[in-house]
Amino acid sequence: MARPGRRSERSAALPGPVIAAVTPQRKGAIRRNLLKWYRANARDLPWRRTRDPYAVWLSEILLQQTRVDQGLPYYERFLKQFPNVKSLARADEHAVLKTWEGLGYYSRARNLHKAARVVVNESGGAFPSDAAGWQALPGIGRYTAGAIASIVYGERVPVLDGNVIRVLTRLFDIGDCSDAPSVRERLWGLADELVPNSDPGDFNQAMMELGASVCAPRNPSCDECPLMNVCEARKAGTQLSRPVRAAKKPVPHKEMVLGAVVKNGRVLIARRPSSGLLGGLWELPGGEVSAGESHAKTLRRCMKDATGIHVKVGGLVASVDHAYSHFKVTLNVYQCDYVSGDATAHEHDEIKWMTRARLEEFAFPKAHHKFLHLL
Ligand code: SF4
Repeated sequence: MARPGRRSERSAALPGPVIAAVTPQRKGAIRRNLLKWYRANARDLPWRRTRDPYAVWLSEILLQQTRVDQGLPYYERFLKQFPNVKSLARADEHAVLKTWEGLGYYSRARNLHKAARVVVNESGGAFPSDAAGWQALPGIGRYTAGAIASIVYGERVPVLDGNVIRVLTRLFDIGDCSDAPSVRERLWGLADELVPNSDPGDFNQAMMELGASVCAPRNPSCDECPLMNVCEARKAGTQLSRPVRAAKKPVPHKEMVLGAVVKNGRVLIARRPSSGLLGGLWELPGGEVSAGESHAKTLRRCMKDATGIHVKVGGLVASVDHAYSHFKVTLNVYQCDYVSGDATAHEHDEIKWMTRARLEEFAFPKAHHKFLHLL
């Protein structure tokens, strides 16, 4: 799985805004002060007590879009249910998604599952031994590969996530837009330059921990920072305007209608296609309201298109708002009476009539948990 040469390609000189070279003295001070601070202040977290690649990999995937306090119970539950890569590879996707239910960004769980199958089927359960090998697995990018390889194997590779970007742009007072690809490459280069030969994993975790705690986005605690004497933004008073980010696009809003269709005491549920948003999760069928179309008309149309059944739309059960990373949605859930037709999955991978009592066996999106108890 190893792909020799990737690191040298990445380290090659790239065009982009100039970032001051790091003098050996400054580099030494950053490394020493940061590692000393980390060893005295690092939070005691379960994935920091192990060098098991599987557990470290799981923690890195979990923490990509999730706060530590939210991720902790999922980490423990996931390891209990799938204690090693072989048990994860053997599991069916439904069980994996059920364990991930409520955490969001479900492609993380689907990719963990796919990658476990690659590791077991192609390498007999042996994990890649370097960052390039990890990066070849589904769902593992440069950041995750660097984190796992430096923490587990002591490989001298950098990491660059939102926390590290904030620390670096402040330490070096970088006023160029950190979302620009050329600046991002320079930041990778800078991170690469700073990471030491010894304890690269601790150094990388220290950078992330500093960004997550002391060098906070709105309220950096510069007076308590181990890097206060080498931080250019602190000297210039520009901390709060670093990093410079691209202007955010307005977030679109969607109006959706969903039907709680009941037939013989059972509710109709459907499984979303495995790829794409909320892939593999179950939901009440429905669709997006078009401009000028009433909720009832939309629901009758969407039910027919998605499931082939005709319904009589009844009262509103709930109206809930939910925010995804790229859009916001209002879900209007209506009680519906089944009228005619055979339920068939036209737009889903699977469709079922299910008793209310058994709904909890299925993995639903977080937004559905805001109203499922009302059915
Ligand atoms: S001195 Fe302040 S701005 Fe600079 S790295 Fe430390 S916390 Fe961040």
